[in-house]
Amino acid sequence: MKSLDEIAAQLQGYDPQALSAEGVGEFLSHLVSPVAETESVGLFDALGRVLAEDVISPLSVPPHDNSAMDGFAFDGSQLRADAALELEVVGTALAGKAWQGAAGPLQCVKIMTGAIMPAGLDTVVPQEFTKPAGDNRVLVPAGVLKPGDNRRLKGEDLAEGKPALLAGERLGPAAVGLLASIGLPSVRVKRRAKVAYFSTGDEILSLGEPPREGAVYDSNRYTVFGLLTRLGCEVIDMGVVRDEPAQLEAAFRDAAARVDAIITSGGVSVGEADYTKAMMKKLGDVAFWRIAMRPGRPMAVGRIGSSVLFGLPGNPVAVMVTFLAFVRPALLKMMGARAEPVPQLKAHSLEPMRKKPGRTEYQRGVVSKSADGVLQVRTTGNQGSGVLSSMVQANCLVVLHHAQGNVAVGEEVDVMMFDGVV
Ligand code: AMP
Ligand code: MG
Repeated sequence: MKSLDEIAAQLQGYDPQALSAEGVGEFLSHLVSPVAETESVGLFDALGRVLAEDVISPLSVPPHDNSAMDGFAFDGSQLRADAALELEVVGTALAGKAWQGAAGPLQCVKIMTGAIMPAGLDTVVPQEFTKPAGDNRVLVPAGVLKPGDNRRLKGEDLAEGKPALLAGERLGPAAVGLLASIGLPSVRVKRRAKVAYFSTGDEILSLGEPPREGAVYDSNRYTVFGLLTRLGCEVIDMGVVRDEPAQLEAAFRDAAARVDAIITSGGVSVGEADYTKAMMKKLGDVAFWRIAMRPGRPMAVGRIGSSVLFGLPGNPVAVMVTFLAFVRPALLKMMGARAEPVPQLKAHSLEPMRKKPGRTEYQRGVVSKSADGVLQVRTTGNQGSGVLSSMVQANCLVVLHHAQGNVAVGEEVDVMMFDGVV
């Protein structure tokens, strides 16, 4: 386990007072390592889990050449470009069992979708392409198909003995279905990353407390809970911790004894008169950063015991943005997942945006399609870092990169879609 100083020494131009967003990502990739422990889970419990090892397919899918259509199977070498082909129907191949007969020249077998291709036959003419040609005879018109059409090849989905999925795959519905398709009732996955979170600040009210002047309800625990849950972490909610040394110390020690990562919000900005930073410093190896970004400039990062600490800013939008930009990729690494950036697209800006070079800005945006089908984006209006409704209205973050300046109407910008993440 490297100390923060050792990591810092490895990085070019590390300045905790003026860190770029890319610099943060790079630092965190050195700070975080994947959990080692694995467990076996049944497929219904595998959704969102991370594969611990490559899965080698024990069989081919599909297991046989089979028909992709309801129709008639025949030997496609008899097709002629300029002449119809008349075939005698000599049997029926149903899905689920092989047809045992043999079909010769100018013969065919009526076949159902998924049925095994009878020996020697490689082409299926769909029922609706054929014309009746008397008792037990069908006519295949010229030019409607090529040899090999409408046949699914053995192993075209997965080949026996080859990897079906690789270690680090975060299992989504399709991947879980794929595991089922090769007959695996269970799968070996990384244990879940355990993450504790709490909010700090004397002005923060827990739900159920009556409103009071100068106080705000704690929204950060709920957004952080949601983001962590969507990521597939095991979460431990530690409530709101008063700005009091004994309480903060107890919370950090309790969390560090139980979890892989601790996420706090609030109390890390420069002007803070509270005890949060002092306690992080006392208990762990922690750096306090000023990141060249908006929203979300202050952030504390380090280790308390063997837990990684992410001390996020207090402002509700800053919490979500720093989570998406930095904590999410770091936690994915901790979970053993392959790098999986949130998809970024390009969209034409519907409005001018003011942007100073020298910091990364994340504006809340709404992507839509213009009448002529190109992606366009507008911002949600008030971009204040406390305006949580902007995150609700948005379906993306507009990412204005470090070196980028003002954006003109119609200019292309990068957008990071929220789909399934926020
Ligand atoms: P801080 O980073 O502690 O200076 O907080 C910055 C702003 O975020 C202040 O206006 C806080 O009231 C607000 N804030 C801090 N923590 C939370 C929270 N858990 N829920 C909602 N707002 C918060
Ligand atoms: Mg505070």
